[in-house]
Amino acid sequence: MPRPDLLERLAVQAAERTHAQLQRRLRSIDAWQGAYVESGGRRLLAFCTNDYLGLAQDPRLVAALKHAADEGGVGSGSAHLICGHRREHAALEEALTAWTGRDRALLFSTGYMANLGAIQALLQRGDLCVQDKLNHACLLDGAQLAGAVLKRYPHADATAAARQLGGEDHTGALLATDGVFSMDGDIAPLRELAVLCSEQGASLMVDDAHGLGVLGEQGAGCVSEAGLGQHDVPVLMATLGKALGCSGAFVAGSAALIDGLTQFARTYIYTTAMPPALAAAAHAAVTLARQEHWRREKLQALIQRFRQGAAQLGLPLMPSRTAIQPLLLGDAQQALAASRALEDLGLLVVAIRPPTVPQGQARLRITLSAAHAEADVDRLLDGLQSLRLASAPV
Ligand code: PMP
Repeated sequence: MPRPDLLERLAVQAAERTHAQLQRRLRSIDAWQGAYVESGGRRLLAFCTNDYLGLAQDPRLVAALKHAADEGGVGSGSAHLICGHRREHAALEEALTAWTGRDRALLFSTGYMANLGAIQALLQRGDLCVQDKLNHACLLDGAQLAGAVLKRYPHADATAAARQLGGEDHTGALLATDGVFSMDGDIAPLRELAVLCSEQGASLMVDDAHGLGVLGEQGAGCVSEAGLGQHDVPVLMATLGKALGCSGAFVAGSAALIDGLTQFARTYIYTTAMPPALAAAAHAAVTLARQEHWRREKLQALIQRFRQGAAQLGLPLMPSRTAIQPLLLGDAQQALAASRALEDLGLLVVAIRPPTVPQGQARLRITLSAAHAEADVDRLLDGLQSLRLASAPV
């Protein structure tokens, strides 16, 4: 048998996806200001960024980045453990430690890498990794990279998670869950998961990419909002590219966890440290996210306004109290058509289709931000009303 030509095989797979009208498309954004983007010569009101607190454009973040770049240049020059760890990184790690109430925090260049690295370092071949079916791809990939036995329980079903954790084997076990689910916007049953992990001797890992900054006192995230601490959730991961308006991520926990990750997390060890100027900007973002409560209050008010308006219009809202407010349409082509019709009205709302979400659960993933005004939400509601979307069972 001749070997398959890999590029040809890839092209066939891509063509199949195109044939099923499920191909992913890259959109080029020429400019971004406040809640608006410019793309293809048009100005669009965007409801698809993860800039939940409206910090990405804040002049104080820009000033922090410029100042640090003026002082120390752009690139970090190497991995953290070689000579890339600058004082900006150390200061950001301290700020994140204090914010999350953990003993220590460790920076990673992206959230994807943080999850891969943390899970791969914690789990050994044959260990058990129990995960929510709707977890982000990088949590799943982490378990696979570690060679762990991966079990996935139905979304948010703590009883099913308990069954999967139970058993006679004596391997190490990690239960990993999104805190706020990225495509649904709902929150994991953290207290129940913490109890069952403690009963079963498993460690709980929470990815709070979409909760940090948005939920909890001073925006400390969904774990803090649930009244849980480092003892209950020993592995806390969150990103800097969403509510904090920057890029990068961190894992926070005990000194032993961070020491261990420093030794064994390959995505920490073998990669260039994030630019120190970015760490300086993220540090400024942490300070603002903690202090400027009005951002969370405004976001919550916009969420309420959107949900009330959408309910009045009978739109197929998914249950969510976070900045992620998806409308479940079901059919992928319907979701795509709705997204295109909204774009004709000057509104940028992306359709999320399989395989990112399960078959038959295509949706418009609407995200709200403190950068929006009430009038922006009303404009979105008017646009959605004009589409006459049939309400699907949620
Ligand atoms: N976890 C979750 C829940 C996410 O939604 C994302 C990003 N979409 C990531 C991790 C990855 O983070 P990053 O974009 O920083 O790689």
